[in-house]
Amino acid sequence: MSFTDTAQVLHRLAGADFGAAMALVNSHNVATLLLRYSPDGLAPACLPDLLSGRTVACTALTEPDTGSDLAQLKTLASPSGDGWLLSGEKTWIINAAHADGVVVYAQTKAGAGVKGMAAFWVDAHAPGFERRPVSSSGAFNSMGLGGFVLNQVFCKPEQMVCPPGVAFADIMDGINRARTYVAAMCCGMVAQALATASAYGQQRQAFGKPLTQHQGWRWQLAQAATALKAGELLVADACARIDQGADVQAEAAQAKLYATSMAQTQLGELLHAMGAEGFLDRHPFLRHLAATHAAALADGSTAMLLERVAQNFRLKPGES
Ligand SMILES: Cc1cc2nc3c(=O)[nH]c(=O)nc-3n(C[C@H](O)[C@H](O)[C@H](O)COP(=O)(O)OP(=O)(O)OC[C@H]3O[C@@H](n4cnc5c(N)ncnc54)[C@H](O)[C@@H]3O)c2cc1C
Repeated sequence: MSFTDTAQVLHRLAGADFGAAMALVNSHNVATLLLRYSPDGLAPACLPDLLSGRTVACTALTEPDTGSDLAQLKTLASPSGDGWLLSGEKTWIINAAHADGVVVYAQTKAGAGVKGMAAFWVDAHAPGFERRPVSSSGAFNSMGLGGFVLNQVFCKPEQMVCPPGVAFADIMDGINRARTYVAAMCCGMVAQALATASAYGQQRQAFGKPLTQHQGWRWQLAQAATALKAGELLVADACARIDQGADVQAEAAQAKLYATSMAQTQLGELLHAMGAEGFLDRHPFLRHLAATHAAALADGSTAMLLERVAQNFRLKPGES
């Protein structure tokens, strides 16, 4: 699939449930990583089950004390015999509640920052791997959020899927794609909410006529439709650049910045347009709203993305 098509699939899935869509794409991202870095070893062993959904995987960077500032990761990989021993703790990981395998980012040399970071494929059933629950909003149930402790978990040399020097560069490359599809997913949630509100407004009567026949009511939907269109154009631009192999750092950051805040605003407006009906469990407005706030943190928080965009506008010395 082109990246444009992938983003459209995720847009559609997120309209039903952002968490389930994230769970699926995060597992498949691991499949892609194994194929790229271990095409003859881990890929043939793991991909058939990952792609069929018989097994589930996740990517673990975040730790209890470290989120945005990845250089401070404390999970340590120490050489042991011909392999590595991993110790540390990860949290807020999609799929970690039930994953069979985890790509764990760990520091191989204390104090080396992102240059010392490596990625390991860890069997979640290995001795020393202990799951920890993350008790959060029920709106995130379908994400399988969880954490785990690594207590001297042994990894063979071939389980180091990305060595130091490669791991961080690979994350930065992959994160532009993730930012773009998260933006697409935010648009998908707004598109779904807009369709629901529009259909509801045609049948719900107030003051002797359907809601859609009240100008003030339908203007709310017009505002949402216009903001959604802007978000979708930013997503389409970033997707096209990815498909062309062009640099997409600023475009992906802008698409996610705009789409997350647009979705936070417009889902609130559309919920209001539904009246009390919008709070019923059969509608996803509240679930979607919580998801847009999660989307603004995962794969680079809003602050990180603003800094990314700001770097593009820095003046060079001597310029005015
Ligand atoms: C639903 C959900 C799913 C997630 N899934 C995963 C996953 O699968 N794998 C994984 O590894 N992680 C995952 N995460 C973690 C996510 O990547 C982190 O939440 C994110 O990196 C931010 O880290 P933090 O929450 O520790 O916030 P912090 O880094 O502690 O930041 C707190 C706040 O301060 C702001 N901030 C930080 N630094 C600065 C700065 N320099 N200037 C201004 N503001 C700043 C941040 O934007 C944020 O608003 C998930 C999170 C959520 C909510």
